[in-house]
Amino acid sequence: MATAATKHIIVIGGGISGLAAAHRLTELSRAGHGELRVTLLEASDRLGGVIATEHTQNLLLELGPDSYITDKPAALRLCERLGLTDRLIAPQHAGLKLYTVHRGALAPLPEGFLLMAPTRVGSLLRSPLFSWGGKLRMGLEPLIPRRSGDGDESLASFVRRRLGREVLERVAQPLIGGIYASDPESLSLAATMPRFPEMERTHGSVILGTRRAQQRRAQVTDETGARWSLFVSIDGGMEVLVRRIEEVLEPGTVRLGETVRDLSWNADTRRWQVDTGGARLEADAVISTLPAFATGDALKTLDPELARELKAIPFSSTATVNLAYRRGDIAHPLDGYGFVAPHVEGRKIMACTFSSVKYAGRAPEDVTLLRCFAGGALQPGLLDQPDEALEAQVREDLAALLGISGPPILCRTTRYPDSMPQYNVGHLDRVERIEALLENLPPLALAGKSYRGVGIADCIAGGEAAAEGLVERFARPA
Ligand SMILES: Cc1cc2nc3c(=O)[nH]c(=O)nc-3n(C[C@H](O)[C@H](O)[C@H](O)COP(=O)(O)OP(=O)(O)OC[C@H]3O[C@@H](n4cnc5c(N)ncnc54)[C@H](O)[C@@H]3O)c2cc1C
Repeated sequence: MATAATKHIIVIGGGISGLAAAHRLTELSRAGHGELRVTLLEASDRLGGVIATEHTQNLLLELGPDSYITDKPAALRLCERLGLTDRLIAPQHAGLKLYTVHRGALAPLPEGFLLMAPTRVGSLLRSPLFSWGGKLRMGLEPLIPRRSGDGDESLASFVRRRLGREVLERVAQPLIGGIYASDPESLSLAATMPRFPEMERTHGSVILGTRRAQQRRAQVTDETGARWSLFVSIDGGMEVLVRRIEEVLEPGTVRLGETVRDLSWNADTRRWQVDTGGARLEADAVISTLPAFATGDALKTLDPELARELKAIPFSSTATVNLAYRRGDIAHPLDGYGFVAPHVEGRKIMACTFSSVKYAGRAPEDVTLLRCFAGGALQPGLLDQPDEALEAQVREDLAALLGISGPPILCRTTRYPDSMPQYNVGHLDRVERIEALLENLPPLALAGKSYRGVGIADCIAGGEAAAEGLVERFARPA
């Protein structure tokens, strides 16, 4: 029951970041860490943000993300607390290869290639992906002197400098640039892959550093002794996580169809005013998990400088195209988890997951489900065309690369406009400036993909940290 001491916290945005924040506040309140009432405002008519699973024709389609990483523990821990551990699934057929497109055909990425660093000499030497000059250049990496200075650097500059152009074009761009749907010439290494510059600093080499890290960890072992593959999914699809959080929130927490337009502070009541166009809600504290530009819009009157910093974080748009084919219509053995397509290959597809090979229960035996990604910073105009044109280009790429002879049984395109924050060089400095500006404001926390990690595990960690920070702030003597 709400009393005068009850603090009302409004969480804005019903993606996984907002859900994690609302859930953590609910947990803390139930555990006696303050009397809290939580309201979660979501503009659309559903929760989950980019997480969306569709069940149709005996298929399980992941329209957005299909898994999360386990070596950042927040997502795994949340699933444990939600009673979902039994439903987590690892990729089937452990250790399948990942393909890449090379000279118009699929070729396996050499075994032991970890994001940018080769760790197995034999498989690297045998690989047709690199010229002999390129292989030699990679082999010299441990001899390349450390960079002087420790400022941020782009992914492209780092990889070219240490491992050579071929590794950048053939491996780092599609694997790392692909995760962020980014241009590697702009992508900040410090904000996305800090372990690589750290390896350069401590080991003088990313190849040696990666090898040592690999020896330490083949699988993640958690404190309970359970062993997890690096990525896990959920048996009924990622949206199970969203539904489960929704179930455990207090009734009345979630308000759908509420688009937040303005955030202001009422100095008389000492409360936030959250304007959704139709309604004006009051709160003691706010957690915004909106994309940075949307939070910036809402704050433009209250704090123009903060708004400017938030709106300066660029975003790229992506789309997924899920396609189901009769297995017999695909010539390729599909003995991998999927493929990436380096930008230099000129394909429309950025990457493709062999979804029904990767995870069990995604399609009937005689059907293959593929999930393709398109768009991103390197192909800005691609998504301007209508679905049918985009699908035709994706199908053309697939037909050429996988030897597909028949039409798809199903084709589902899902667009994610302005969905991927671009962590460009200097991103972390900007985030620090944003955090410093927030210090001057009444209780307002920002979380979500725009700041310190786009992955689901990062977003959950950020949402939970925002919730904990506010509860601590309330507990401090005024
Ligand atoms: C296609 C795709 C595939 C991905 N695959 C993976 C993967 O396999 N593994 C992984 O770890 N990560 C993956 N990611 C990244 C990860 O899924 C996202 O970064 C993460 O889910 C973002 O969560 P979020 O809550 O921060 O943002 P969002 O999911 O974008 O949620 C923001 C929410 O705010 C709402 N909103 C927007 N404006 C307003 C407003 N003014 N008022 C109220 N509400 C508003 C939106 O409707 C939305 O629900 C993928 C991302 C994409 C796009």
